[in-house]
Amino acid sequence: MNLKKSNLKKKKTSKYLVDVGNILEDGFILINNSGRVLVSNKASQELIGKNLLNKNILNIIKNPDFNSLNFEKSNKKYDHSFVHELDDYLNRQLRIKLKKISKNKILLTITDLTLQRNLEKIRRDFVANVSHELRSPLTILSGFVETMLNDDKIDKTTLKKFLNIMNEESKRMNTLIDDILSLSKVESEEHISPSTTISIFEPINSVISTIKKSGLLKNNNLILIDDRVDKNQSLIVEADFLELTQVFYNLIENGIKYGNSNSDILIKIDQMKTNELTVSVINEGEGIPEKYIDRVTERFFRVDKARSRKIGGTGLGLAIVKHILIKHRAELSIRSNQNKQTIFSITFPILKI
Ligand code: ADP
Repeated sequence: MNLKKSNLKKKKTSKYLVDVGNILEDGFILINNSGRVLVSNKASQELIGKNLLNKNILNIIKNPDFNSLNFEKSNKKYDHSFVHELDDYLNRQLRIKLKKISKNKILLTITDLTLQRNLEKIRRDFVANVSHELRSPLTILSGFVETMLNDDKIDKTTLKKFLNIMNEESKRMNTLIDDILSLSKVESEEHISPSTTISIFEPINSVISTIKKSGLLKNNNLILIDDRVDKNQSLIVEADFLELTQVFYNLIENGIKYGNSNSDILIKIDQMKTNELTVSVINEGEGIPEKYIDRVTERFFRVDKARSRKIGGTGLGLAIVKHILIKHRAELSIRSNQNKQTIFSITFPILKI
């Protein structure tokens, strides 16, 4: 084969390598024995930087584990891997594997471990939070049991008082476990789209009637307002009735819990675009400070933990709402004007019929 033909063949092979490599999610880079980059795919450029071609890899990935390697002297069985942390704002973590694939070529594969690391942290934090949340009612329960066991002379009134507190605490544990189970169910199913279609009025009316019967309302009421210009527009959404019932229940219950006891809770239906539908739950009350608005849908996040606990909150209601809405491809937006209105709006795609 003459030189021209051989160069052409090499070029074709490396283009083929790049095309195949660009399909991969992991980064891959081919270097020669002096560390010069011969080929790199898109994923590797996104992970460690653009324009890698012909640069020395040691100047790009600065890691003591890497600098000490001697590519020239490495033999054919050379196979090495290390974890590299990037100094970026996400503090990304990469696994870099090196394998000698021919006398003068080494293949580097780069896997982004950041998501996995973050998920592990979320799981660890969740286990720690659940244990902590369950421990407080359990400590109260066992404290009262111990007192009752050690004191034979407890009068009937005190005993009744203790039993009432114990009853409240065991109810709290039950609610917490129910919420944890709900959250874990909706989280694991959030990728499965709902298979039924309903009118948005169905879950809303069901929640309004449940809450009106529950005794949660004091000097206030629930008011449903249909603010759509064209009342003939479809209200049909692809949704799971029970899950949307839970969404509206959690939002309306919060509106009552955190709102002024003498101002009404409004449930407003709007239509800004022909293919969308917005339901807003509006209450008047002390509201959510601006800096916490993005955090209220995090598990166990509460603006005022003691207050939420006192009124029976678990800190999981809005996390459940968030995951159900992801499943429904619906968007949640939160606005709050302190000491004025707090508005939780959900925008659903409407099903065309
Ligand atoms: P909780 O069980 O504590 O009510 P949620 O997940 O439902 O938990 O809500 C998280 C936090 O968001 C609440 O503890 C409260 O601080 C804040 N919050 C939710 N809804 C409202 C509202 N309508 N007005 C003011 N604060 C709210």
